[in-house]
Amino acid sequence: MSALELYSPTDLADALRFIEREGKRAAVIASGTDLLPRMRKRQVAPSILLDISSFTDDLRYIRQMDGVVRLGALTTVTDLLEAPLFHANLSIIREAAELFGAPQVRNVATVGGNVCSAASSEDLISVFMALGASVKLISASGERLLPLKDFIVGKRETALRSSEILSEVSFESPTGHSWTAYEKLGRRNMLIISIVNEALSLTLEDDMRTIRSARFALNRVSGRIPALAVRTNEFLEGRRITEEAIVQAQKVLASELSLTSDFRGSGSYRTEIAQVFLKRLIQRCSRSLGGAS
Ligand SMILES: Cc1cc2nc3c(=O)[nH]c(=O)nc-3n(C[C@H](O)[C@H](O)[C@H](O)COP(=O)(O)OP(=O)(O)OC[C@H]3O[C@@H](n4cnc5c(N)ncnc54)[C@H](O)[C@@H]3O)c2cc1C
Repeated sequence: MSALELYSPTDLADALRFIEREGKRAAVIASGTDLLPRMRKRQVAPSILLDISSFTDDLRYIRQMDGVVRLGALTTVTDLLEAPLFHANLSIIREAAELFGAPQVRNVATVGGNVCSAASSEDLISVFMALGASVKLISASGERLLPLKDFIVGKRETALRSSEILSEVSFESPTGHSWTAYEKLGRRNMLIISIVNEALSLTLEDDMRTIRSARFALNRVSGRIPALAVRTNEFLEGRRITEEAIVQAQKVLASELSLTSDFRGSGSYRTEIAQVFLKRLIQRCSRSLGGAS
């Protein structure tokens, strides 16, 4: 068995030079709450761990400027819970953080690690997708910005290059008649692994009845990865919120999902829950805005 090395770079520039050189053999480690259990199960076997956890000055922040919210990759789930920003029409982030793991995990689990793990059960991916988030990827030769929906390319697969580190998740603050909400179903009350999780960002027209835009995202779409429910979103846009429209939207949603079965729940059970959550999320957002429900 070959020895596992740990590299602790002196600064971010050193980390980027290192990953440029050794990226194919190395794995970035933030807090390790996802990576270390996977290594123990031999699902991944990097030769070197590149430890970025000390770069809190560069990568741990929550900022809002010019209508854009920026979260550094090392922002923890507890940081999200404690931030005054995530109330009112951004309460979706606090809701997801409250349902995340247990306090010990929340205190260390990072935003960057959640997104880069690209696992179907992760809470923050659906939430960030519903918010239309982008990710900033940095390397020794520069940086690029990618919509999160294009970053997650498969189960446990991202568009991250071996020479890159994810430095930031950003999204525009919802404006106008907008609200956001999150729902999650698991098998217990703590340390909940999502059977289904769903996030919605909804904007209404001035009449407070017609949907101007809907960004609805959920985990395990097509049985694989979190994604936007594109056809359902298209169906909802421009519709008045009525019982009939919600029933139709639930049908569209069922037709675009192919949710898989496993020991946590069957595909048909997951689809039913997804439909119930869709209705609940539309009603919650609409009610919070004082509109029709
Ligand atoms: C007991 C327990 C409960 C959990 N509960 C939940 C839960 O309720 N909801 C949930 O969503 N998740 C949960 N998780 C999973 C895990 O905690 C989260 O995915 C967490 O956000 C991962 O962050 P991390 O800093 O530990 O990432 P790490 O484990 O350090 O890294 C995860 C992956 O991302 C890569 N990576 C990390 N940071 C970067 C970066 N900046 N740039 C490039 N690549 C990077 C790593 O190489 C690795 O592949 C749980 C885990 C445990 C052990």
